[in-house]
Amino acid sequence: MIKFQLKKENPNIEILESLYIDLEELTDELRFSYQHLSKSVSNPRALTGINDTGEWVMSCCPMHAESRASFGISKEPPYHCNCFFCGYLGTIDALIENALDLDDGEGIKVLLSSYIIEEKQRTFDMVDFIENRRNKFMIPHLKESSLDAMKLSRSHDELLYQSGMNYMRSRGFDDRTLETYEICVDTATETLVFPQRTRTGQLRFVQKRKIGNSYHGAKFINEGSAIKKDIVFGLHFINKLRTTEHRIRRIRIVESPIDCMSNYQVGIPAVSINGRILFKNQVRELQLAGIEEVDLMLDNDKAGTKGMEDAAILLDRAGLIVNRVRYPSFPAPKDSNELLKASLLDKLETYNVNLIGSLFT
Ligand SMILES: [Zn+2]
Repeated sequence: MIKFQLKKENPNIEILESLYIDLEELTDELRFSYQHLSKSVSNPRALTGINDTGEWVMSCCPMHAESRASFGISKEPPYHCNCFFCGYLGTIDALIENALDLDDGEGIKVLLSSYIIEEKQRTFDMVDFIENRRNKFMIPHLKESSLDAMKLSRSHDELLYQSGMNYMRSRGFDDRTLETYEICVDTATETLVFPQRTRTGQLRFVQKRKIGNSYHGAKFINEGSAIKKDIVFGLHFINKLRTTEHRIRRIRIVESPIDCMSNYQVGIPAVSINGRILFKNQVRELQLAGIEEVDLMLDNDKAGTKGMEDAAILLDRAGLIVNRVRYPSFPAPKDSNELLKASLLDKLETYNVNLIGSLFT
């Protein structure tokens, strides 16, 4: 039998003790990430079979192959983990690192970015915690100087720069929009750069899109922190206005930065969730930015529709007013950017869906 040792001192104990973690949800999320690792082949049932014994949330152990749930996470902070079969012992942050093959110190970041659900004590100041510990101290960011270097790389290849920017103009964008969202070309990697910032404006990562079609490998590359579940593209502009007379309470939620920028260009406040799934942490960021009402406008396809149904439930539960934007039926445009190019983006109707959401609660 393998022996595991508890780390002597866990510098994160204090943080863990202050967190409320929904362990069943956490286990599900870990399961989701785990199943994409090659080692899941030899332990296919890891983190399945969740059951709550009152004291422990049990599931199949991610550290040894089994089909009956022997692995427990204590429901009391700091959430010790214990496999009653193989003897694995450790805190939840270390478990995340071991199960997902992450480096030391990454586990706590995953927790802080994804699983804070509610404050444990009344005296716990969530806003202060998020501002001062999570964003500035805990989650790694990308240095502004690295984005500056990408912007300056134009001088190495003006032709490539122009071809990248012309592509963006062909998508209907004017220079003001491109400047506002800091779109630039990184000539070193031959990519268009979309900076992704936190609600408070810190640079978390950049999304890079290969220019042209003659590239090898992935069309999109991310550079910077892998923690993204709290990132809402464009939200830092809205957050800045929160305490001013121009506060924005209602926004459109779209899928991609390009869709967000399309709406901006026609004067409609919008943010992008960088995909079809709205995460709880993103909902929290919207609330912290002062948003009270949203118009859902994910892509006009099956996945987008499902994403909007799921998002409506989350937003409704969080107390926001939820509407959906009605796409024109003919010709059927697939997203905000197509509507921008057809000059229809600012001419759409919305309808309220809070009633639909409440059917599920
Ligand atoms: Zn085990």
